[in-house]
Amino acid sequence: MACDFATLATADTSDPEQLMLLIDQCTKAVTDPKLWFWALVLTLACGAVGAWIGKYKNAVVRDAILGAALGPIGWIISLCLPVAKPIPRCKACGKPVDAADAHCRHCGARL
Ligand SMILES: [Zn+2]
Repeated sequence: MACDFATLATADTSDPEQLMLLIDQCTKAVTDPKLWFWALVLTLACGAVGAWIGKYKNAVVRDAILGAALGPIGWIISLCLPVAKPIPRCKACGKPVDAADAHCRHCGARL
């Protein structure tokens, strides 16, 4: 007995032993390490493509997460999102500052 949609749709619900065998088969299929390995590889590959898109959108982390979570749909969303503005940073200490600031709030250097 294989765990597939046809078997599940035609399962005899009056026979508990057959149902237990089917559940065992399905549990084995879902917990197969090969399945999880390829799911992980696919997730990482989709995240890498998302990060590549994010490199051009100035939002690598955002687009990597979108790609990993949603795959090609996440890539399309990334491509439709506007280019993220870079966070202004102090030239002296490198810490993030507000664009309207005249002096760095971390080191006091003139911006
Ligand atoms: Zn500074």
